[in-house]
Amino acid sequence: MSKEEISIIGAGLVGSLLSIYLAKRGNKVRIYERRPDMRKEAISAGKSINLALSDRGIKALEEVGIMDEIRKIAIPMHGRHLHNADGSEAYQPYGKDGQYINSVSRGDLNKKLMKLAEDHGVEIFFNHKCETIDFKTNEIIFENTIDSKLILRNQDLIFGSDGAYSAARLTHQLQHDRFQYSQYYIDFGYKELNIPAGESGTFLLERNALHIWPRGNYMLIALPNIDGSFTCTLFFPFEGDPSFQSLDSNEKVRSFFDETFSDASKLMPTLEHDFMNNPTSSLVTVKCFPWVRNDHFALIGDAAHAIVPFFGQGMNCGFEDCAVLNGLIDKHNEDWTKILEEYQLLRKPDADAIADLALNNFVEMRDKVADPKFLLQKKIEAKFSAKYPGKWLPAYSQVTFSPHIRYSDALKNGTRQDAIMQKVMALPGIEKKWQDEDVEKMILDLI
Ligand SMILES: Cc1cc2nc3c(=O)[nH]c(=O)nc-3n(C[C@H](O)[C@H](O)[C@H](O)COP(=O)(O)OP(=O)(O)OC[C@H]3O[C@@H](n4cnc5c(N)ncnc54)[C@H](O)[C@@H]3O)c2cc1C
Repeated sequence: MSKEEISIIGAGLVGSLLSIYLAKRGNKVRIYERRPDMRKEAISAGKSINLALSDRGIKALEEVGIMDEIRKIAIPMHGRHLHNADGSEAYQPYGKDGQYINSVSRGDLNKKLMKLAEDHGVEIFFNHKCETIDFKTNEIIFENTIDSKLILRNQDLIFGSDGAYSAARLTHQLQHDRFQYSQYYIDFGYKELNIPAGESGTFLLERNALHIWPRGNYMLIALPNIDGSFTCTLFFPFEGDPSFQSLDSNEKVRSFFDETFSDASKLMPTLEHDFMNNPTSSLVTVKCFPWVRNDHFALIGDAAHAIVPFFGQGMNCGFEDCAVLNGLIDKHNEDWTKILEEYQLLRKPDADAIADLALNNFVEMRDKVADPKFLLQKKIEAKFSAKYPGKWLPAYSQVTFSPHIRYSDALKNGTRQDAIMQKVMALPGIEKKWQDEDVEKMILDLI
């Protein structure tokens, strides 16, 4: 059965991209978005976090022919630039030569995707907040956020792409007998801060890198913007010392930054104001199942699988959902019962895997990247992988630069490789003999 009237709830990153995929196939697509049109309003301070766009997301954008447009607003980042606590700096490439991830402003990307969606004939209705869906009639009830009137829309096929706190998911859950649901908050929150551009738009830190100030229990990161500024994110405990709670005055904030992130602090003239006024936000992992109802409803993007941002994959994973779904529409020739069933069976294990990988990567970013033994491990892996690319690919590369490898396989391969590396790193004197043939032979034997 061909669906012609498709409603998407949420004009975020994934809903907007999904609409382009579906409109290109000739469907009549409408998106209903709770917020006003962000192209006409200033984005409120502290909510313009940058995102790392990598190969899975790029592949999905290329598939619908819009990556060239997105490239115009992206800055390549070839590696991590570490700012250590002792004042030293180090650089770790993300992958092989020529491999990089991209810094994109969330707001700019979302605006561009909305514009491209409209260019493809998609209608976007702003100020439409989804309240509930009656799955017996497939009627969506919206509240108009300007005049509070209720609006009803009856649709053939509905996608819930309304983010981590999805109303579509909640109403699906409430009308489901055995809905599996879990949400998990880490004890850390995040706050957006800013390093402005230098004179005439110069970059005050290395432009083509993701900057990290790893400090054991917490970290600051900075991603470049095309205007020369950097958007910084502080990932920090909610409570304890130090924490968002303990830094409760301008003086405490500045003195903590001077002491802990001294090079960054000098570049942050509005630090006290940003810290006190920008929101402190929480980080949630959501897992749920099922994602679909027969042939008429599906969750996609963060609504189906919200993850923490430490692998830079939430959006990339949501974009990959769209590409997988598109492949299944071809495969099942518009039979939506089959399409949606296979979509959730394929994507659920991958979403669970990237959720776990992302949680593990927090410890790597905030702590291990500054540990010499961990850096040596990465060096040994990189050397081995360069010599035997068919036998070993670092987990980061599998996730970030290898869209043909499923997240669930990347998790399995990564766990197996990590167990091997633990044995290698336990060899007495590994710091001196890591380049010896014996070490290479040991890895070959263990694979
Ligand atoms: C700090 C941080 C850093 C991140 N960094 C990265 C990164 O580097 N790389 C990466 O790939 N991902 C990253 N992510 C994850 C990424 O932001 C999300 O995975 C992505 O935004 C998901 O897109 P979405 O469209 O599913 O949801 P969202 O972008 O949240 O969009 C949901 C949309 O639905 C609308 N909406 C909500 N409720 C309703 C309702 N009731 N009715 C109608 N509309 C509604 C919202 O207004 C919004 O427009 C990061 C996330 C955070 C928090």
